[in-house]
Amino acid sequence: MSKPKIATDWLAACAGCHMSLLDMDERLLQVLSLAELTSCPITDLKHPPHEGVEVGVLTGAVNSTTNIAVARMMRKRCKILVALGDCAVFGGIVNMRNYFDMQEALRCAYVETPSTVDGFVPASEELGRPVRARGVDQVVKVDVCLPGCPPSADAIFHVLSELAQGRIPVVAGETLKYD
Ligand code: SF4
Repeated sequence: MSKPKIATDWLAACAGCHMSLLDMDERLLQVLSLAELTSCPITDLKHPPHEGVEVGVLTGAVNSTTNIAVARMMRKRCKILVALGDCAVFGGIVNMRNYFDMQEALRCAYVETPSTVDGFVPASEELGRPVRARGVDQVVKVDVCLPGCPPSADAIFHVLSELAQGRIPVVAGETLKYD
C-alpha cells in the first residue's frame, strides 16, 4: 500500500513554524517512513501536486489575495487541512496589522524603517493585493488546529505521525506552547 502524502505551504508567516517542523530532527525520518512529503517551501515543488494529498499543512495568516489563492489551492488538493501555528489558527501576530491603515502599514514596513534606503512598496501579480489579516479558517474549512508560536517539534511530530496513520490527533495540553 502506498504511503499517505503530506504537503505543507506557507501564507503570511515568518519561517518559525517550518523551522519548528525541522526541529523534529531525526523524528523527521520517522514521519517520512509513514508518509511521503510531496512539497513544502524548502523543496523544489512548492505547492501540493494536482493529484492531491491526504494531509495539507498551512502556516501563516491570510494577509493577501495571493494567500487566499494558496489556501484555497491547498484546501482543494488535500483531504485533511491542518492550520499550524498561531498565525494560521487565528491570525496571530499578523492580526496587529488590522489596527492600522493599510497604506500606513505598507509605508512603515517598506519605506520608513530606519535601515531602509530608497524603499518602495512592492507590487506584483505574484504578491497580490493586501487584505485584512485573519486565520486560515476564515477563508477555507480547517480540520485540525495546532496553536503555538511556533508549536513545539514534539507537538508537530505527534500531529503528523497520527495523521499519517489515519488518526485525527488529540494534542495534550502540556504539549502546547505559546512562546
Ligand atoms: S505562529 Fe509564530 S512562528 Fe509561526 S509563522 Fe506565526 S509568528 Fe512565525
